[in-house]
This record gives sequence, C-alpha cells and structure tokens, in this order.
Amino acid sequence: MQYIVMDLEWNTAYSKKLGGFINEIIEIGALALDEQLQETKTFSVIIRSQVSKRLQSRVKSLTHLTNADISHGVTFREAVERFTAWLGDEDNTFLTWGDGDIRTLVKNCACFLELPEIPFLHHYVDLQKYCQSFTDAANSGQQLGLSAAAVKLGIDPDVYPHHRALDDSRLAAACLLCVFDQKRLSQAAHWCDKPFYERLSFHPYYISDINSPLVDADAFRCVCDVCGGKVKKEKNWKYSNHAFRAVFYCQKCDRRFRVSIQYKQLYDRLDVRKTYTEITNAPESIPVKAEKSEA
Ligand SMILES: [Zn+2]
Repeated sequence: MQYIVMDLEWNTAYSKKLGGFINEIIEIGALALDEQLQETKTFSVIIRSQVSKRLQSRVKSLTHLTNADISHGVTFREAVERFTAWLGDEDNTFLTWGDGDIRTLVKNCACFLELPEIPFLHHYVDLQKYCQSFTDAANSGQQLGLSAAAVKLGIDPDVYPHHRALDDSRLAAACLLCVFDQKRLSQAAHWCDKPFYERLSFHPYYISDINSPLVDADAFRCVCDVCGGKVKKEKNWKYSNHAFRAVFYCQKCDRRFRVSIQYKQLYDRLDVRKTYTEITNAPESIPVKAEKSEA
C-alpha cells in the first residue's frame, strides 16, 4: 500500500460548451509515500488548457506559471494516462488538502474524458480535515488553509515557497508526518464508491418552509433564555436570511429577544442552529446565546 499526496493547480475559465465556469486543471503534482511515510517517487505534469489559453492573474502570481508554460503542456487525457502509469498497480490511499481538488478532478474527468468517476481513485482521505482534527481549530467550523495548518503544526511553510502542485504536495505531506496515526488515518479514509460521489456533488441547502417534515415543531416553542419562564410571541415566525425569526417578550424579566432557528440540510445530517438575540434600544443587537444541535 502506498499513500499518494496530490495537489492540483487550476485556472477558472468560462466554457461556452458547458455554459458556465470550469476550474480547468493545469498542473498535477503528487508524491508517493510508503507505509513508513518515506517518499518513494514524485510526479509533476503541466496540462495544456483547452477552455482558456490565458491564465488568471491570481494563478500566475501564485504559481509563477506563464501562458507559455501552459501552451507547452500535455492534454488532460495524456496527463491522466501518465499519472495512472506512474501510480502503478499497488493499492493506494489518496490524500488531498480539502476535497476541492477532488471535486475539480471529477468535473475535469466528466468534461474532458466523459468519465463519471475519477479512474484511479479508490480510497481517499481529506487531509485538511484529518490534520485539522489534531489542532486547536478542530471544532471551529472554519477550514484551515494549508499554510495556516502547517504553522499550527510547527512547520515553517516558507520552506516550501513556490505553490506549484508538487511543492504544495510536499508541504501537505509534511503536515501528515506531524500527525500520523495509522488508526485515525484509516478511520478518516473513504472508499470512492457511489455514495462518495453523491456526497461530493451534494449541495447543502437551507430549509425555508416552516411546514417541512424536517422542521421540528418543538423547536419553535420558546421560553425565556434567562429565567426559563413563559414568554409572549410579539412577532410571528418569518423566514429571512436563511433562518426563521420571531420576537418574544418575557414579562418577568421585562426583556425582548429575537429567536432565530436555522435548518441546514447537509448530505447525511440536518444542522440546526437556534440563536437568541437580546433586543435593546441600542442600534445593534448582539447575539447572547447560541445553541447548536444536530438531528
Ligand atoms: Zn425571563
């Protein structure tokens, strides 16, 4: 078994054929690690873009790649063939920093190869999620960028300054080395089966219909969050800004507060957030208490 740490560079371009924007892959970089995490080989290829010949200035300044570099690249098909040959027959676990690269690869395989899945991907770990779970940002809800995570893990990201696909793979591999735990890593790994692709293409959405069967009526029965006593509803539930909102008055505390309840449907769970906001005469109200629960 080998670990493959992979990173992609891509350029966002408008495709007339697709009638929308696509992140077109312009470079694949990867390195292979054996089970003791020793680097065994590296891979790097530049891809000739088909949708747009011009790189975005953001991409140029980040990667130092030029339009000329890209024009000398190989086709996406050839890059995938070379990469597959480089991978060899050994079983592998792929690791990328966040699943953005995998989403992009799925779209590029669909667009340029007419393949519904990534042909060489069988076993996958989101390295960003995995590494972040070892840091103090584990439950923060924010997603650490590669450099920020490296700093938290005690690595100097400036040792890997170039932001080319192989350099970023090296930095990601260095992060993995800091927090390698075979058991936790295998728990974080997914088989790239049908549900894996369904999850990748799922777009989370907010529930805006108060009569939806997913909405729990009990959540809308509110008490005062200070005294726990009965409250009077002054303004009925209204949906705005992705949440149901209503205003309540507690006679005992002589205070008014707004309750917001947000239902966000994720692929495999419903995320429910209930927030109480004090209503004062001050121009801006600040949230005083937030509860988060998962159903
Ligand atoms: Zn009260």
